[in-house]
Amino acid sequence: MKIQAFTLLFASSLVSAQTAPIFTGQSWWNHVKFLADDKLEGRDTGSHGEREAQKYAIKQLKKAGAEPAGEHGFYQPVKFIQRQIVERDSSLVIIRDGKREPLVLGDDAIISTRVMPAQEVSAPLVFAGYGLKVPEKNYDDFADLDLHGKIAVYLTGSPAEIPGALASHYQTAAERWKVLRAAGAIGAISLPNPASMDIPWSRMALNRAHPSMDLDYSEFNETEGEQLSATVNPASADKILAGSGHSFAELAALGKDREPLPHFPLTVSLEAQTHVVLTKVASANIVAKLPGSDPALKDEYVVLSAHLDHIGIGEPINGDRIYNGAMDNGSGSALILDMAASFKKHPEKLRRSILLVLVTGEEKGLLGSKYFAAHPTVPAKSLVADVNVDMFLPIVPLKVLTVEGLDESDLGDRAREVAQTLGVKVQPDPEPQRNIFIRSDQYNFIRHGVPSIMMDVSAEPGSPEQKIFKDWRTQRYHAPSDDINQPVNLETAARYEEIVRSLLIKVADDDLVPRWKPDSFFRRYAGEDQKAGQTTVPATLGIH
Ligand SMILES: [Zn+2]
Repeated sequence: MKIQAFTLLFASSLVSAQTAPIFTGQSWWNHVKFLADDKLEGRDTGSHGEREAQKYAIKQLKKAGAEPAGEHGFYQPVKFIQRQIVERDSSLVIIRDGKREPLVLGDDAIISTRVMPAQEVSAPLVFAGYGLKVPEKNYDDFADLDLHGKIAVYLTGSPAEIPGALASHYQTAAERWKVLRAAGAIGAISLPNPASMDIPWSRMALNRAHPSMDLDYSEFNETEGEQLSATVNPASADKILAGSGHSFAELAALGKDREPLPHFPLTVSLEAQTHVVLTKVASANIVAKLPGSDPALKDEYVVLSAHLDHIGIGEPINGDRIYNGAMDNGSGSALILDMAASFKKHPEKLRRSILLVLVTGEEKGLLGSKYFAAHPTVPAKSLVADVNVDMFLPIVPLKVLTVEGLDESDLGDRAREVAQTLGVKVQPDPEPQRNIFIRSDQYNFIRHGVPSIMMDVSAEPGSPEQKIFKDWRTQRYHAPSDDINQPVNLETAARYEEIVRSLLIKVADDDLVPRWKPDSFFRRYAGEDQKAGQTTVPATLGIH
């Protein structure tokens, strides 16, 4: 019976898709072109360009008949504190046998201002493997180490014994610091694993002095006591490993295959001086709704989220200073605007409401969504699912979607069913080391118990198209060339939008709200009703 109901639902949506294609990719692309125009200056959080993008989004949402659902109309104000490092007053020095050896900022290392650094830090270094503690898997990188008053050095990534989503979760800044702090550490230095670096060091270093931001509310301070957070260039890592009996090449080779790493004290200590200038910045999330029609269910919301901000103006690459962010995430923002318009043009009597959320501050560390998920503009309990769209990369014909969170909740199952019905395969994240699961806004919904997924256009493992994605990340990701002069596949964009629309309709109309899988780690963040068992609406309401 159940399967039949499904088939019917999808047969009818397929028929309507065939008779009148809802999406062509063209209106989506027109929105991308506006959002990624040089005039919007890369939409940095709190910038003039971001405000222009927000105004444009609101204009489009109004045109589509979406209702305001922020705090002030469509806006939900969010306050930030901006941190800008003054490099001429900042330094990192290694001390070995009393000898001082500077690490050159930019060439050898970067001091992060995502964490508020202490003005002066001096401490011994300890290599702590992956720097992880995962109680669920009885895994502890600190068990045989003394970290008291020391700075932990770790290789990014995780051992194969930790499942991808769980490994990603424990690699968030907040979770990492929780366990490091408990082990007595006063700071952390990461060594990027070259096998999973999305962008080369040279580009990471290029914009290191670009201001970072944090939410300007004490409730969100998750790194208290962290006096230093820095990243060392893999090419310079042997400067701190020398004398330990281990080389970076050895550690990187183990990390590449997610093998166990050794733990050992280093023979050096580190002195850091950091000068940071603080400024207050204001921005906002944009929130709109497409109201549902079922009296019992219209106060429940299926969230479609995307970040509207990007990284703004930075150091020039090939003479171009504007980091337009056409795919990151003009593409997802444009999809939301296009989706709203599609429901006006092709109305669908939805049972639940759809909440369209264009967040700010994603590039600063998922900050707008962190604020929204903690202070939603509709009751927190009414958020039944989040479908997040961030840089879905329609740059090859659409055959495969990677679904982040595929196996964590039955929202993943629904995504699989919808995609397969429309002729697209789905796969779980084939590269868990890249931590995509924690690198976009769905993660904040997950932390508040809302079943969430993000879908990305992908290539079949081993196919030649894999290189297209790899090259895209190396060359265009967070670079000025992620602009409107790049090739995109409008047919793929249109088909992707069709999948998102069908999924939204399915979740809005199903009797049952999405549930976490009983064995999902993330289920612990869900409310008691999710943990206790299924809540259902009377079957007589039927499937619309
Ligand atoms: Zn980005």
